Amino acid sequence: MDNYDLLIKNGRVLDAESNFDSVADVAISNGLIDRIEPEIDPAFADDTIDASGQWVMPGMIDTHVHVANVADLGGKRGLGLQMVAAAGATTVIDLGGSMDALVAGITDRGSGVNAGSLGYLKPGETVPEGRLDASQIRDVVGKALDAGSLGVKLLGGYYPFTPEETSQFISSANEMGAYIAYHIGTTETGSRLDGLRELPALLGSSGRVHVAHINAYCRGSVLPVEQEIQEALQILEDLRNQVVSEVHLARPNFTRGKCDADGRVLADVCRNCLRLKDYEATADGIRAALRDGYASTVEETRTGLVLVTGERGVELFDEGGTDVSMSFPVNNAESAFQLTAARTTVGNTGTAKPAAQSAPGGTNAEFIIDAIGSDAGVLPRNVNIEQAMRLVKFGALGPLDMVLKLSLNPARMIGLSSKGRLSEGKDADLTLIDPVEGRASYGVVAGRVIMMAGRVVGTGGTILTTGQGVAAVAPTGIPFETVDITQAMMYAGRPD
Ligand SMILES: [Zn+2]
Repeated sequence: MDNYDLLIKNGRVLDAESNFDSVADVAISNGLIDRIEPEIDPAFADDTIDASGQWVMPGMIDTHVHVANVADLGGKRGLGLQMVAAAGATTVIDLGGSMDALVAGITDRGSGVNAGSLGYLKPGETVPEGRLDASQIRDVVGKALDAGSLGVKLLGGYYPFTPEETSQFISSANEMGAYIAYHIGTTETGSRLDGLRELPALLGSSGRVHVAHINAYCRGSVLPVEQEIQEALQILEDLRNQVVSEVHLARPNFTRGKCDADGRVLADVCRNCLRLKDYEATADGIRAALRDGYASTVEETRTGLVLVTGERGVELFDEGGTDVSMSFPVNNAESAFQLTAARTTVGNTGTAKPAAQSAPGGTNAEFIIDAIGSDAGVLPRNVNIEQAMRLVKFGALGPLDMVLKLSLNPARMIGLSSKGRLSEGKDADLTLIDPVEGRASYGVVAGRVIMMAGRVVGTGGTILTTGQGVAAVAPTGIPFETVDITQAMMYAGRPD
């Protein structure tokens, strides 16, 4: 008779690949999903989770987190790994960090999640200063792969390269089998719609790239927000065979509160956020905004970073001598909503239809933006599941649409054929959701529980690397899994 390591009973099992949506039992053995049946006898399981009333989905994969930055927010390495696990993630991709920081984070405070990393491209740190030729660019990409990264991240919004260099980074990464993500912007454009307009020219007919947080380019700085959303969607639909993308659903942004000797706020973003609600762009303006609950700063607790406002926020702001992280609830909800729900237009080139109108009835309309990615990690806004569940309750996404955006498409984006699917023989990475609370209730990685009701109980982790990175990752002693980036959706193409 079979013996199972773990049995998850009576949950509503959701698999976007097979469109399975039914109450069933899931039995796990040796880190894999062994059986999915209407009724499996718990006498044959070493451990059982009663998932009555809960949803059971393949583990949430967040393709945009920050858990291995060189200068992590907060003093403790690996804090972000705790925070993503608490929010229900089972696999994360660090979008711009260092392998050393990832290894240190997993060693110090790993939460059991699987983590891959993209090397960040910053002149003077990982990239030589000054103009770069093609061989220098290939060298930089090669170094990232040798270090164990899955590829590289272009931070055009912070460290822009010329259009020629940007284009060269993309084509070099493509030729070298590296994953490449792009925060839009070059020396000629910015982290705005004009940067997105530049993308077709940068890619040419063959370039492939993951475009990060599309909502960041639809904030109304070039055109009215509504027009920016429509134009962004059209650009992405036109580049459908070359681009994968994600959107984040968090309201809070992050900036710095640092003021000069006269108490004037230095960061442009912080000043704009204050003026938006008629606060002065000064230290006193920040204090007033904190007291009113509009502004927040960040405080480190034992389990992660949290947003703090009110008098405690003012205390932290003053203790930090104004040079603290600040957050304002300013991310545009309309663009997050529309970009998440928009689908391809089947058979015409008009504007995209909202999800609920085009999803059922056998059309092959697909989401234009593949995934929901948090752009969080160590930033306290790991809200993928909470916000996606709100869209489900609202009717903008079906439960299987949510699973597609939180798990199957992210798995496809990275080329993880054994994840993102809840079917027999696949990895037993699962996320359970309490639909009443609207948040993750359990995280399971390779059949082991890593999170229960927001409390992280997992340790360590598994590094996702390429064949080229094995020589660097193996000596760390941290378990690893190799990923074939040629299977990543930007290269392998979308499934039919
Ligand atoms: Zn980011």
